[in-house]
Amino acid sequence: MIVKSAFDEIQIYLVDASNFKGNCEKVFIAESIEEIIPLVIDANNKKIKITVCGNHTGLTGSSIPTEGFVLSTEKLNRIIEIDFENNYAIVESGVLLKNFQDELNTKGYFFPPDPTETNCFIGGVIATNASGGKSFKYGATRNFVLEIEIILSDGEILELKRGKNFAKGNALELSTKSGKKIKIELPEIKSPEVKNAAGYFCKSNMDAIDLFIGSEGTLGVITKAKLKILTLPVELISFVAFFNSEEDGLSFVDAVRTQTLLNNNSGNISARAIEYFDKNSLIFLSEDYPEVDCASACGVWIEQEVTENNFDLLIEKWYDLIKKFNANDEKVWIGFDEKDKKKLKEFRHAISYKVNEYISKNNFRKLGTDTAVPDNNFKIFYFNSKKIVEENNLNYVAYGHFGNSHLHLNILPKDDSEFLVAKKIIAQICSEAVRLNGTVSAEHGIGKLKKNYFQMMYNENTINKLFEIKKILDPNLILGDGNIF
Ligand SMILES: Cc1cc2nc3c(=O)[nH]c(=O)nc-3n(C[C@H](O)[C@H](O)[C@H](O)COP(=O)(O)OP(=O)(O)OC[C@H]3O[C@@H](n4cnc5c(N)ncnc54)[C@H](O)[C@@H]3O)c2cc1C
Repeated sequence: MIVKSAFDEIQIYLVDASNFKGNCEKVFIAESIEEIIPLVIDANNKKIKITVCGNHTGLTGSSIPTEGFVLSTEKLNRIIEIDFENNYAIVESGVLLKNFQDELNTKGYFFPPDPTETNCFIGGVIATNASGGKSFKYGATRNFVLEIEIILSDGEILELKRGKNFAKGNALELSTKSGKKIKIELPEIKSPEVKNAAGYFCKSNMDAIDLFIGSEGTLGVITKAKLKILTLPVELISFVAFFNSEEDGLSFVDAVRTQTLLNNNSGNISARAIEYFDKNSLIFLSEDYPEVDCASACGVWIEQEVTENNFDLLIEKWYDLIKKFNANDEKVWIGFDEKDKKKLKEFRHAISYKVNEYISKNNFRKLGTDTAVPDNNFKIFYFNSKKIVEENNLNYVAYGHFGNSHLHLNILPKDDSEFLVAKKIIAQICSEAVRLNGTVSAEHGIGKLKKNYFQMMYNENTINKLFEIKKILDPNLILGDGNIF
């Protein structure tokens, strides 16, 4: 175990990509899974808080402690096994997503969860149930987690396999490796029927593994996981189309979504990612990407997997569709080779990255929505959200995973007084998302920054019932202190 406590050495553990800043006494960097158990037992006996961290790319302050110890998984970075015949991999939780994907890609495979940022650890991806562009086709991380190993706050080890342990109604029983039984009463929660990462996953008859996926470091330390992998598609269509009006761009998104849900064969339009950029986002990125048409009102980045030799035929179908929504077919930014396609992916990453960079440089905290609403409410939600920000004369960029009706509206305040106004506006937009049967967090989780919004989604009674689960698994409340609750 490596232990750090010198001021300079621990600073990188005290800020995440949202620019949330914290404090701690010591940082423990586990060099093996076995080292974690005595650390956790000792901290539990002494009631010292432990915040588990991945690679700090989270956007809610959830990996940042306000006191106690940090437990870093950075050295638990072994890819233990990849079984290409049976489509799975077993990895330690500190494996960098980028390294994992590279290793799989060279052999013609991939791991579908794609949280835009690849500089994150598998443990962080599982603990936030991350999702991203490809989630339009593949759903969130939980769909690809087959098994996890977790160390609980008392040092007991849980090994959970998907499909092996289901709740009976609302009664969930867990059995640790040493045979200790843990009984949990799952609350009845009415979760919004949208992509959702707010709070614990709780459903009657649910698979036990799902309680821990997305639990934001509050229920245990994930040490190992068995993950489902898929073969890479033969080809990928990737392009950004630019539209003259937002109405056209959003109607195009609707049409692609509808056609994708109707078509399940690769000879037709069937997107795996539908990502949107408003005009402000295009302008914000145009300096680095001359391919962007800043005169247009918005852009939509599409990816489609092509499994047969029908690239040209599909491209024709896409051109027909974009023309139907008045896109300028001469200005489509299309990725013809691997280099271009990589650039398009970087372009999507760049918008989030540049927002975070602006926030850090100006010493603010991230002020962005992670809201999703049902598809039929999205347009009204989107235009209302923008209107509120514009009425207050604030700079902003609006983009996101619009295939999932998931909006990242980020405000870029110029000074402290704008920051305060912006904070109120983000709360107002979150409240509107809830009113429209949506969520305040579709993918980043609640962490420390979104607790007020979480309370808009669920009443005190429901949140208390969720907290009861936490208390059963972590009675001294040492893990992930300040996250969610
Ligand atoms: C530019 C940018 C774009 C992004 N885009 C997306 C996106 O499209 N979709 C998306 O979902 N996210 C996105 N994110 C957020 C982030 O990348 C993900 O949340 C990521 O999964 C976090 O991984 P991490 O290793 O950095 O975890 P951290 O930030 O270090 O930790 C996140 C949470 O996981 C917990 N945790 C970490 N490891 C463990 C473990 N081993 N056991 C238990 N708990 C653990 C921590 O306690 C914390 O609660 C983006 C971030 C950036 C910077």
